[in-house]
Amino acid sequence: MNRIIFKILIVLVIFLLPQCHPLKKTFRYEVDEVQYHIKAPVIRVGLIGLPQNIEITAEKGLKIINRQNGNLPAKRNANKVKIDLKNGKSELYFVQLGAFLKRENAENFTNQFSSLYPFQMKIYQSSQFYQVRIGPFKNKADALEVFKYSIKNGLKDAWIVNEVVSSEEEGNSLFIDDEELRLEKNSDIFLIPFHQAELLKVNESPYRGIIEIKNGESGITVINILNIEDYLKGVVPLEMNPEQFNELEALKAQAVSARTFAIRRLKFHEEKDYDICSTVKCQVYKGALFEHPLSNQAVKETENEILTWNNEPINALYTGSCGGYTEDVENIFGGESVRYLRGTFCFHQNGDRVSPIEWNEEKTKEEVIKILRRQFSIEDIIDIYPLRRGVSGRIVEMRILTSKDYLDLRGFLIKEMLGLKDLPQEILKTMNQNNEVERFIFKGRGKGHGVGFCQEGAYTMAKMKRKYKEILLHYYKDIDILNLNEKVK
Ligand SMILES: [Zn+2]
Repeated sequence: MNRIIFKILIVLVIFLLPQCHPLKKTFRYEVDEVQYHIKAPVIRVGLIGLPQNIEITAEKGLKIINRQNGNLPAKRNANKVKIDLKNGKSELYFVQLGAFLKRENAENFTNQFSSLYPFQMKIYQSSQFYQVRIGPFKNKADALEVFKYSIKNGLKDAWIVNEVVSSEEEGNSLFIDDEELRLEKNSDIFLIPFHQAELLKVNESPYRGIIEIKNGESGITVINILNIEDYLKGVVPLEMNPEQFNELEALKAQAVSARTFAIRRLKFHEEKDYDICSTVKCQVYKGALFEHPLSNQAVKETENEILTWNNEPINALYTGSCGGYTEDVENIFGGESVRYLRGTFCFHQNGDRVSPIEWNEEKTKEEVIKILRRQFSIEDIIDIYPLRRGVSGRIVEMRILTSKDYLDLRGFLIKEMLGLKDLPQEILKTMNQNNEVERFIFKGRGKGHGVGFCQEGAYTMAKMKRKYKEILLHYYKDIDILNLNEKVK
């Protein structure tokens, strides 16, 4: 075995290390003159929503390492790699019937209700719950039939979820310095800048760390592999704009929440090619382009700090503006209640308990019918009214009374199914001469789902000279703030 192959093998062994200690895994790459090292903890970010044609460059060139068989050389240098992601992403739908903190409860539920369905129920482990699901369905209409059937049968926690999956067609081309090569199934290549200090560019946008292009079972995935603190420098300014929220303590609180969210993903590694996605579904990340001195400082000053409960990283949900009071998590996302995600009063501008951010959305009855008909077959709507409100005043259960039947919606589905901005707190109506509803006025406060850490409130608290730890302890009850260096579980 010659020296180079031997060294490549060392690298591959490191890449292939099991994920049992994700917080300690380090990427070290050394072949010939190239030495590249990513400090632990390392995170793999799935870059979702890239344009169809991507071009990856590095000013002083890059190394390409091919891990799998195929027609690509095992290793070569290049100035530019282009890839045509012509087979876009598609969505698959599942009906989630329940979400449980313990596997045992999910199994009991499955045993109890499986006879209701001709489909097999499966238990999926997410970062928070054991989810009992049916599916996948290729289109939403099929999922909706099962959803409606479930609601009718008293499974009130039923939910429709979608997952983004790459299409499975083959034939993607990869261009290395304009030489066309076929990117075969199961190919897995790593793009590494020639110099440690240099940043790769994806369509002219800088990215720290390295890029992996994987053509796996579920299609092509582009993954950015980097140190988690570097990742956070890209995330914090996109989740909380430092120009708009120019208070260091608020940004520090955001940095700790975002780090916790990411570490939890690492710890409860789902069976995917990456740890976390780059969209709003996880945390928005677009590389190093939006880094800002104030948010970088917030990341640096809270380095390695995460939030834990019962020695586990918490599910650090956060929201744009709660509207004056945050909500209990189960009221919005279903599942069991979570001790640290309880609704609490919130400080907004000038320390007011009531947010000035109020919104209302007016829709005629016909408009509401049209929106609902995308998902349900309904004739006419007689009325829409709340069945239950959560602690924040948000309507968390709502009944749509139709001419033949009724439809009950819960939590976040209210917003989704009615196509509203957010969850409303009031429904006003105007009537016609025959005393029939003519239009609905949905009124609400705040922005986002309203669960967990409130960015608007954190900003106000920081203005009131509160420190980031106080801010975090206000929104997440009874949690601990730990340093990863001191305690890695
Ligand atoms: Zn708030």
